[in-house]
Amino acid sequence: MTKAAVFTGMGKDLEIWDVEVASPKQNEIKVKLAASGVCHSDLSVANGTLPMMPPMVLGHEGAGVVEEIGPGVSHVKPGDHVVISWVPQCGTCYCCVRGQVELCEVGMASQMTGGLLDGTRRIKKDQMEVGQFPSSGTFSEYAVIPDLSVVKIDQDLPMDKMCLVGCAVLTGVGSALNTADIEPGASVAVIGCGGVGLNVIQGARIAGAGNIIAIDMVDSKLKLAEQFGATHTVNAKEGDPVAAVQTITGPGALGPRGVDYAFEVVGASATIEQAINMTRRGGTAVMVGVSRMDDVISNFSPFMHLFMGVKTIKGSFYGSANIHRDIPRYADLYRKGTLMLDELVSKTIDLADVNQAFEDMKGGEVARSVITY
Ligand SMILES: [Zn+2]
Ligand SMILES: [Zn+2]
Repeated sequence: MTKAAVFTGMGKDLEIWDVEVASPKQNEIKVKLAASGVCHSDLSVANGTLPMMPPMVLGHEGAGVVEEIGPGVSHVKPGDHVVISWVPQCGTCYCCVRGQVELCEVGMASQMTGGLLDGTRRIKKDQMEVGQFPSSGTFSEYAVIPDLSVVKIDQDLPMDKMCLVGCAVLTGVGSALNTADIEPGASVAVIGCGGVGLNVIQGARIAGAGNIIAIDMVDSKLKLAEQFGATHTVNAKEGDPVAAVQTITGPGALGPRGVDYAFEVVGASATIEQAINMTRRGGTAVMVGVSRMDDVISNFSPFMHLFMGVKTIKGSFYGSANIHRDIPRYADLYRKGTLMLDELVSKTIDLADVNQAFEDMKGGEVARSVITY
């Protein structure tokens, strides 16, 4: 029997179930989890922002040891330490062959259904099938996942820190280095300084950005943002953050200027509007946060932002990551001390405390709780 934290319905606490996790099939592996971060997207499933079909094992930011491999698996073997990605890459679909592997169409379908790449499930409670979100399900002692969703790491790297690479780092640092491709000296603003936002900030630092302006409503998060590389902080409770950013960047010949790159890491129309408004003429606004499906932007002037403003507005999914290129890169940067992971972990908890981790997240004080097994 395997203990797993299961989503059983919108707005309910996750339940700890004893489940059976089957052996891996063709091109799948079974991982014995060592650690899993608790990400805001798990809470978004639990509270209904991301609609998913229960019952489903949540958790998608894991690291562990390969327990068993299915037929056709050659790039890892039992005993290997791996970081798990929640974006399976088939390697052959329209997006994969064009280099946008994070948008894999086959992977996206499995993310939505809670199954593996062939659409079937590997987890059961008695006779009932249980899904895994999204194609990972790391709130569990064991998980069966597509073999291309794991990347091997050196055995001396701490898995209770490396697990965070699987979502927060790939998404946040990736949106700075890959999606925006920030150039040295560029000015950057980041709205929202949770686990992903802090990683956008350290991504901007790693890219060699000039001014890095962190914006949040919680002072303790802004303090942490400075540790991760923010040169300025703005508490959005204390006035208009757009005006505050324009004051920091200074005026241009045509009026208030704004930043070269603005990142929205909250997922709300109000902060998306702010991100676009604080982007300078010719600059780029990158949308990282997950919005509610029914949230729309009504106050958008194409004339001001696209014709006069010549702004680029980009969506960012999973930091435009190629996991097989980026996870080894981030492991190296962590080893060198350039990528901060230890500082992201505010609490280490047991699987049974996962609902408390959600409560801490709602309170806005916690960067990341990490479950260790
Ligand atoms: Zn996540
Ligand atoms: Zn694909």
